[in-house]
Amino acid sequence: MISFDLECSNEHRFEGFFKDYKAFEEQLNNNMITCPICQDSRIKRLFTGCSIQAGSSSSGENGLQLNTETPNLFEMIKKAREYIQNNFENVGKNFAETARAIHYGVEEERNIYGETTGEEVKELLDEGVNVLPIPSIDKLQN
Ligand SMILES: [Zn+2]
Repeated sequence: MISFDLECSNEHRFEGFFKDYKAFEEQLNNNMITCPICQDSRIKRLFTGCSIQAGSSSSGENGLQLNTETPNLFEMIKKAREYIQNNFENVGKNFAETARAIHYGVEEERNIYGETTGEEVKELLDEGVNVLPIPSIDKLQN
């Protein structure tokens, strides 16, 4: 189960829960997600600060495959985000908590991404948790 921060065209913000990323995309594309406040179905996903943690056992060989022939930073970040959204589990606001749980072996090791504050990333790095803050495309587009 994953959750996304969503916003309707009337700027109501709410959280949506989905089985996985595919289910979310499907429902979004079919206008099946409606705002709980005004029933509006013109929903967009809010991208806030986003970070990833790569499981150490699965990184390496199947790491990010970026096209180095076109060193366009924007494209690279976009590709990285797409890769992450398709291959990493979105743990949303629980990122710091989950990253820590994985780091200390409380939870199964896996690739995750989610929202963090700069402060949380700093704390995680201080604890030796392998996290990587990635820029938000939405912010870059502005
Ligand atoms: Zn609304």
